[in-house]
Amino acid sequence: MLVKTICSLFVFAFIIALSSCGMVAKEKKSVDSLETLADTNQVQHFIEKKIEFDSSKIAFTFDFPVGKPDAKGYYDYQGFTENRHLGEDWNGLGGGNTDLGDTIYSIANGQVIYAEDFGGGWGNTARIVHELPDGKCYESVYTHCDTIFTKSGTWLLKGAPIGTIGTGHGQYYAHLHLEIREQLGMPIGEGYSADTTGYVNPSAFIKSHRKITTKIQASSSLNQ
Ligand SMILES: [Zn+2]
Repeated sequence: MLVKTICSLFVFAFIIALSSCGMVAKEKKSVDSLETLADTNQVQHFIEKKIEFDSSKIAFTFDFPVGKPDAKGYYDYQGFTENRHLGEDWNGLGGGNTDLGDTIYSIANGQVIYAEDFGGGWGNTARIVHELPDGKCYESVYTHCDTIFTKSGTWLLKGAPIGTIGTGHGQYYAHLHLEIREQLGMPIGEGYSADTTGYVNPSAFIKSHRKITTKIQASSSLNQ
């Protein structure tokens, strides 16, 4: 066994404030997180699977989630921390709904821990946990999706289709709201906050993790 890596994942029992991300009205409702978000069993399964090293389950490299691998044909309409934004809003260069239905890809190898319609402005939402070669884990969140192709518990390789760009149940022009989090299991949240604790700048993170060189990678024949 090359390495034992165990991520410390914590899923809290919380009441999620449902919110819309964007420029339009917000609505809130309470949901039972243990039924709807990051199923505890799935997180436990993820932890157990990491005990056995499998290079296909390690995030050695990261790509952008649209126009892969470099977001060609897309732009970030509202960046991280802009207007207190906790993510990035990826839009097609054509504007409007020209990107409606475009494919969204997993930014790295990882396991889906949530893939459902969250309702309201969030719409179809996928959450994926990625473990880096050093054992540190990050979570990517993809929301406002028109459709979701994957389901909770599924292991994905980088670049795997996970859904399509949507409008958040018609509340916005089509775009992908992408978040990358360094704290796992947090509520889906509001999408906006002056407190960025637990969040990282998606583009900066992806650009700095396009290729991760490690001893593990050098000794594995299955790396990307
Ligand atoms: Zn957004």
